[in-house]
Formats: sequence, C-alpha cells, structure tokens
Amino acid sequence: MLDRYNRKINYLRISVTDRCNLRCTYCMPEDGIAQVKHEDILTFDEITAFIKEAVSLGVNKVRITGGEPLVRKGIVDLVRMIAKISGIDDLSMTTNAVLMSQFAQPLWDAGLRRINVSLDTLDIEKFKLITRGGNINDVFKGLEEAKRVGFNPIKINCVIDKSSNEPDAIAVKEFAISNGFEVRFIPMMNLEQGIFGQVEGGEGGNCSSCNRLRLTANGYIKPCLFSDLGFNIRELGARIAIQTAIGQKPESGSQNLEGEFYNIGG
Ligand code: SAM
Ligand code: SF4
Repeated sequence: MLDRYNRKINYLRISVTDRCNLRCTYCMPEDGIAQVKHEDILTFDEITAFIKEAVSLGVNKVRITGGEPLVRKGIVDLVRMIAKISGIDDLSMTTNAVLMSQFAQPLWDAGLRRINVSLDTLDIEKFKLITRGGNINDVFKGLEEAKRVGFNPIKINCVIDKSSNEPDAIAVKEFAISNGFEVRFIPMMNLEQGIFGQVEGGEGGNCSSCNRLRLTANGYIKPCLFSDLGFNIRELGARIAIQTAIGQKPESGSQNLEGEFYNIGG
C-alpha cells in the first residue's frame, strides 16, 4: 500500500514482548517497567492472523523484535508459524543474543535465516554498565553459535553516542569484519525529546523513504516510531487498523511521549 506521501509500506516490525533480560540505559528505565497485563499481550494466533492481513495489503518484510524476543515463551513456535506464511520474502529478528547460544539451532530449524544482534562495545565492564548487569560473553557465545548454525547475514546493531569514529564503535566494527558480520551504527535517540537520526549502514531514520509499520506487544499498530499515533488492532480489526495507520503515517517523525524503544521495538 502507498501512503499519502507515496511511500510504499511493505515492512512490519513486531514487538513480541516488552520484557527484557537486559536493562540498557538508553532503552529501559532503571527502576524497571510497568508490566503489561498478560491478557493484553497478543497471542501467537493473533500475531499470525495480523501478519497475514498485512501481507495481503502489501507487506513482504517482517522483523521480530521486542523487548527481547527470546524471552517470549514459545518464541520458536511463533517463528515457525510466521515462517510458514506465504508472501513474506524477508523474515528477521533483532535480539541482544544473550540467549542465542541455546536458541540459534531451534530458530534456524523453525525457518529463521537472519538476525540483527545489538552490541555497542567489546569491553566487558562497559557492556555491564550499558546493559545494567549483562554478561558480554553470553553475547559472544550466542553470535558464535548463530554463525555456526548458518545465519547469514548476521548484522550488528551498534548504538553510538556521537559518531561511528568513537573507540567502541571502531572496535565493534573490527570485530564484525573479522567475523564476517555486517555492522550498522544507530545514533542514540530520545523519543520523548524528538531526537532521532539516520542509521549508518541501514535504512532506519530516513523519513522520506520510510516503509515501516510497527506492531506493539499489546496490539497497537504504529505508523511511526517518533509519533504517539497507534491503533488498536483488537478494537478496529487488523485490516482497518493497518489501513488507518498507513493513512495517517506522518510525513516525518516528531516526538513520542508515550512509547519507548522497549515496547515499540526500535
Ligand atoms: N532486545 C533486542 C535488542 O536489543 O536487539 C531488540 C529490541 S531493541 C529495543 C531494538 C534496537 O533498538 C536495538 O538495536 C537497540 O540498540 C535499539 N535502541 C534501543 N534504545 C535506543 C535508543 N534510545 N536510541 C537508539 N537505539 C536504541
Ligand atoms: Fe533490552 Fe534491547 Fe532495550 Fe537493551 S535495547 S534493554 S536488550 S530491549
């Protein structure tokens, strides 16, 4: 489907949970998050039915994200259900890879073929600080297993403070190159303050060519990360919700006073 600004909307990002096993300083509030009620979280059947409707309206690219998608119970089953939907040309997942050493093979067997892994530094202590307690060795093990299993491409998402020339970014880039991974640099954003920028090495943040819709774990379809607009798919039904979201997709982002990366999925 085309939106009002002639952008072809074909990319759906699905946040399957707002929970996470890390607490990145730029993503989650320190004191944790208000838990979404269990009954508000979309079921696997609701998610797959929604995707089928989206595919019928022109979506052919789907990314599973979160929160941390690997902490959603039954994630492998969900991936298997999504991978079977005909009309999806590109299925991927964004993950912190902390649990990837145990999930890589089952995810591959379920039909997932490519992943993006978030990694902002190679330094053990700095990683612990950024993620408020994470162990970087889990990520390294996860990446190693994903590579062994055959995921390709594996892309590293590296959030940068000011530039991709800062030491952590350079180290992550060298690590990526030496392992055959791609790297994308994401400027640190602030949804509330409307501070956002373009992803280096990727498509994100370029409003004039934005082709995205986002589905939150509790069933809101959002036409823009940097806007409060969101349409409840249970109340409106999938088709009307998608058409309304595309119809109201803003020309460019402004600010988002309600959502955060962890519940919209970045
Ligand atoms: N937990 C998974 C992960 O970290 O890869 C998936 C969800 S996370 C919200 C998706 C992406 O958003 C990650 O690459 C993360 O680095 C990015 N992100 C989170 N908060 C951000 C912020 N304030 N500015 C820029 N990127 C952010
Ligand atoms: Fe969790 Fe990903 Fe947010 Fe970090 S960026 S707190 S790993 S959802």
